[in-house]
Amino acid sequence: MRLDLLEECRDAGRIGISGHVRPDGDCVCACLALWQYLAKCLPEASVKVFLEKPADIFREIKGFGEINSDFPEEPPFDVFFVLDSTAERIGGAGKYFETAGKTINIDHHVSNRGSAQINYIMPQVGSTSELVYDLLDPEMLDRELAKTLYTGIIHDTGVFQYSCTTPATMEKGARLISYGFDFHRLILETFYQRTYVQAQILGRALMESIRFMDGRCIVSAVDSRTMEFYNVEPKDLDGIVNQLRNIAGVECAIFMHQTGGQEYKVSLRSSEKVNVAEVASYFGGGGHERAAGCTMTGTFHDCVNNLSLHIEKSIKKWESENDKRNHCSS
Ligand code: AMP
Ligand code: MN
Ligand code: MN
Repeated sequence: MRLDLLEECRDAGRIGISGHVRPDGDCVCACLALWQYLAKCLPEASVKVFLEKPADIFREIKGFGEINSDFPEEPPFDVFFVLDSTAERIGGAGKYFETAGKTINIDHHVSNRGSAQINYIMPQVGSTSELVYDLLDPEMLDRELAKTLYTGIIHDTGVFQYSCTTPATMEKGARLISYGFDFHRLILETFYQRTYVQAQILGRALMESIRFMDGRCIVSAVDSRTMEFYNVEPKDLDGIVNQLRNIAGVECAIFMHQTGGQEYKVSLRSSEKVNVAEVASYFGGGGHERAAGCTMTGTFHDCVNNLSLHIEKSIKKWESENDKRNHCSS
């Protein structure tokens, strides 16, 4: 399927862009890259971005200050884009989607069934920012746009490390850094660097983690009281689950933070055997094979018990399929 962004926006006076709640680097940068591109190519149109307040580390990305996080009443948009998300997961921006003349969903989540009028869903591509790159006219790239797309790509590929990185991703990365922004500093400051309290809460989560299923699974949780004590927000917890997954022998890492009396936001990461998109989808969430999330109700132990049943099933499924593959090839 080919999607012509400018053709779809021809004659549009008002264009809106949104992405998922708790926007991550890919989501923020895909939205701001599209915003920059449409504003540059369609100077007559009004283009607005609506996102929950992103982490301050993205303040250098062009358009950061234009992000609208209080979702005011707006007349209907002619075209409304949903990036890096389903239309059901855009929080306060959902009302713009409902009333828009035309809706376009650009995403790479395997769990996204596509509920917009035009759905461009490519689960084989590592980031929505890479999808936006593919859809824009390369002649219109400039240093700010290149920096924005690059930042989005590094966040969802773990700086070109995760299995969603392809030779094409690397080629795009190479072309983007040729625009001459300080990519070293960008990677350090937006991806690796933590504030002191972020490091402290990471340390605490690692220290209090529990392994089960013979060390193949690991879980850690942070409750609301601890978050209040350190004065941290959910976005300060990003990255903890990856550190749990990096532990030797771990097939599946679970990180949970309390969002209500009996409610947890759950992040799942897997190394190879567990399809966490399937596990998260079972509990009403979604994501990718190796990184997914959901919200669960119950006590910490209820959540872990429920998750572990599905994780174990997924490992068994992988192992029996692998046995079959080995038999066939021998
Ligand atoms: P997180 O663990 O929140 O970093 O999310 C991991 C991946 O799963 C990201 O690509 C998210 O966009 C996706 N994800 C997280 N929670 C949900 C959810 N409730 N529904 C669909 N996708 C989700
Ligand atoms: Mn995302
Ligand atoms: Mn993404």
